[in-house]
Amino acid sequence: AAKDAAASGAEAAADQGAPTIFDKIISKQIPANIIYEDDSALAFRDINPQAPVHFLVIPKHRDGLTQLSKCNDGHEKVLGHLLVVASKVALQEGLSDGFRVVINDGVNGCQSVYHLHLHILGGRQLTWPPG
Ligand code: C5P
Repeated sequence: AAKDAAASGAEAAADQGAPTIFDKIISKQIPANIIYEDDSALAFRDINPQAPVHFLVIPKHRDGLTQLSKCNDGHEKVLGHLLVVASKVALQEGLSDGFRVVINDGVNGCQSVYHLHLHILGGRQLTWPPG
């Protein structure tokens, strides 16, 4: 219950436009292992990897996208771009045998950072279903 309360607190703060740790990564205020960057997207290695290759792809401009369930028709272009970047960087990282793309949404999805992000995991045989 405490975890749920903390998560909804973070969700509420982000909804109001509060900066998240990812804003500091985008602005290079805190270091991250960045493996791809363009005008609208950034990819960096997850600090707590769950697979031999585990990186995140995020939009540079959050534009209301604290989480996927806040998206609207105006986000179609950026959402498509994030998937294209995910695929390109996965191949760049050598994941030619396959990989997984995950978006955790909200409390039940175990989302902890309220700035939309795609997890890309690979480099080993993954199992299904996830936990
Ligand atoms: O989907 P969720 O919100 O739980 O994922 C957030 C991810 O951001 C975690 O996998 C965490 O390890 C990662 N993270 C990171 N660098 C930070 C803070 C969090 O890679 N400075």
